[in-house]
Amino acid sequence: MNKPAELKLETVPAWIGGQPVKSAARSGEVFNPATGQVTKKVVFADNAMIDAAVKAASTAFPEWRDTPPLRRARIMQEFLSLLKKNQKQLAAIVTDEHGKVLADAMGSVQRGIEVVEFACGIPHLLKGEYSENVGTQVDTHTLRQPVGVCAGITPFNFPVMVPLWMFPMAIACGNTFILKPSEKVPSASVRMAELFKEAGLPDGVFNVVHGDKVAVDGLLTHPGVSAISFVGSTPIAKYIYETAARGGKRVQALGGAKNHAVVLPDADLEFAADALIGAAYGSAGERCMAISAVVAVGAAGDPLVRLLQQKAQSIKVGPGTAKDVEMGPLVTCQHRDKVASYIEQGVKEGAQLVVDARKQSVPKDGFYLGTSLFDHVTPQMEVYKNEIFGPVLVVLRANTIEEAIELINKNPYANGTAIFTESGGAARRFAAEIQVGMVGINVPIPVPVAFYSFGGWKSSLFGDLHVHGTEAVKFYTRTKAITTRWPRQDTPTSRREDTSAPGFHMPTLG
Ligand code: NAD
Repeated sequence: MNKPAELKLETVPAWIGGQPVKSAARSGEVFNPATGQVTKKVVFADNAMIDAAVKAASTAFPEWRDTPPLRRARIMQEFLSLLKKNQKQLAAIVTDEHGKVLADAMGSVQRGIEVVEFACGIPHLLKGEYSENVGTQVDTHTLRQPVGVCAGITPFNFPVMVPLWMFPMAIACGNTFILKPSEKVPSASVRMAELFKEAGLPDGVFNVVHGDKVAVDGLLTHPGVSAISFVGSTPIAKYIYETAARGGKRVQALGGAKNHAVVLPDADLEFAADALIGAAYGSAGERCMAISAVVAVGAAGDPLVRLLQQKAQSIKVGPGTAKDVEMGPLVTCQHRDKVASYIEQGVKEGAQLVVDARKQSVPKDGFYLGTSLFDHVTPQMEVYKNEIFGPVLVVLRANTIEEAIELINKNPYANGTAIFTESGGAARRFAAEIQVGMVGINVPIPVPVAFYSFGGWKSSLFGDLHVHGTEAVKFYTRTKAITTRWPRQDTPTSRREDTSAPGFHMPTLG
């Protein structure tokens, strides 16, 4: 692995109080996965830097909270327009640090931008409820108020989209925010902070800190942070949920996945295979909504595996910036090696290796791995039980749709799933009975659009509320119910000097 001279390395700063912060006691290395080279250094936050970020966010909070939602929305609209103008640049940063192909990076930035479009409608989303005469001369209304300083901790696989799931909605709701992106892909978050400032966001409303467990623990235990949003692997999501909740914080922690696609014998197999190839190997399988397990039902099995084999072995692997490349490298050398170790593991366990990444030629420099496909995988095998998070697809066989549903419902993960069929009845039954948060019917990656909410069930989510859409408004606000009575009003039954207001009674009093 090459490493250019330290002096030439650019430093990715933290962003606190509207300013870049470049000095820190600790730092990390950022790689370009396509070349295997270290390209940047990133400053790692210690407790003092976390404290400075919380102070900046707390100081900015009262004025931002009291800024009318319409004015907040105008700044959001400016941010939206700057994101659109800089979409290519942001996508290039994603490809540079994560490795995914440029078209895929552009698409992921677009999905993030759509959350900002949704956040522009915040005045409407914050409207409360009002009931006149809940009791005689008594009215009740509700307010949605921001929770305070919120923090977001994000994974490496969507350096723009996942942060955009969080901070635009939190900030639109009147909160201030501290983002801790994955230390493997830190630059895009800082670029978005610059753009938000350019859009007119007051200093301190949006802050970015970097680092590992030290930075995360600093946020989780800081008494000045009121809410934590997390997206990442299941063990860390569980840890985040437990630690933050113990500290009295509101928390949503989205975890890992093993997403199944069921293919029924009546499905258009060519269509299903094309969809599955994109869903399994797109972004090198490093998607929380990637299909990593196919459940082939009955006669669908053999012809489907033949199609998958043919398509999987013809995927072109190379740098994400190169034309015609369909799959880029994995994010780090360690992750590539871990994914590759599952190929050996599956063979040892007795699965049938139909496509073998080890036999494919991929660029030598960089963290590349070709595609692998296993058939006749069983639920006891490690290649099925674990989230591999790489270009390895496993096929299980089932005799009936009931068996397929039972298999999926037994899996601890429950992020996304899909069914391929021509039968409306089978699809409807699948959607009703499957215990998974997001379901696709002939749609392999059913990521809900920004005005719906995104999230899984079971070990794929710790907490109650999903991200973006209206659930984000619930997560980033607290409801207050106000009951009002004006006893001195002129009514046929009360005179101005009479404060007893005859006829008043609370609804609970009958
Ligand atoms: P990760 O859990 O290793 O890291 C996520 C974040 O947690 C990073 O910011 C990291 O710095 C921090 N972190 C890592 N170890 C920590 C520790 N011991 N203590 C405190 N903080 C720690 O995840 P990743 O490898 O960056 O991303 C891949 C994972 O994210 C996969 O499991 C994938 O399924 C999941 N993911 C889930 C969703 C979803 O919506 N459910 C979306 C994207 C990714």
